[in-house]
Amino acid sequence: MIHEILPVGPLQCNCSVIGDEESRDAVVIDPGDEIEQVLELVRKHNLKVKQIVITHAHVDHVGGAMKLRAATGAPILLNQNDYALLKMLDVQAAWLGMAAPGRVEIDHSLGEADVVKTGPLIGQVLHTPGHTEGSICLYFPAESKLIAGDTLFAGSIGRTDLPGGSFEKILRSIHDRVLVLPDDTVVVPGHGPVTTIGEERESNPFLVKR
Ligand SMILES: [Zn+2]
Repeated sequence: MIHEILPVGPLQCNCSVIGDEESRDAVVIDPGDEIEQVLELVRKHNLKVKQIVITHAHVDHVGGAMKLRAATGAPILLNQNDYALLKMLDVQAAWLGMAAPGRVEIDHSLGEADVVKTGPLIGQVLHTPGHTEGSICLYFPAESKLIAGDTLFAGSIGRTDLPGGSFEKILRSIHDRVLVLPDDTVVVPGHGPVTTIGEERESNPFLVKR
């Protein structure tokens, strides 16, 4: 598996470029910004982007999706429970003092039990509401890797004070869907450093049982 993690935009959203070494097929996850640099990575590995997956409809994760779609022809996938948030991108950008990205069109919804296939690489969609209603994680069991969006961070969890957020739901999602994964699963959060399920189970202050 080829996997490049590129922090993009003012909030340094972790954009992942995941590619299959044989077919050179690739999926790009959360192209929030800096699409020129994302495309540079795609070219460096001689990849063909087949799908664009958005973990949730916050502007720092989805802002560059249309530009990437225009450059690659790949469809944009987002859970339908975040379609309402997607209509508020300009409002979100104003909160963050960012330039509005314009309208983003979704080609397909991604839901629980869907799989994102990239050559032989299988990414399982886990619907993990809480940070937003439509938040998803993408789990690659054969590679022991989880792309977690803003659901789980190293030492923290996603904020739940924005529209559609729920502290109860994010805890339930993390306990029921994420912490059930094997300890050695590498977690790539939506921002900040990479971690593992075992490390977060052991030491994340939001998750350790007292
Ligand atoms: Zn977010």
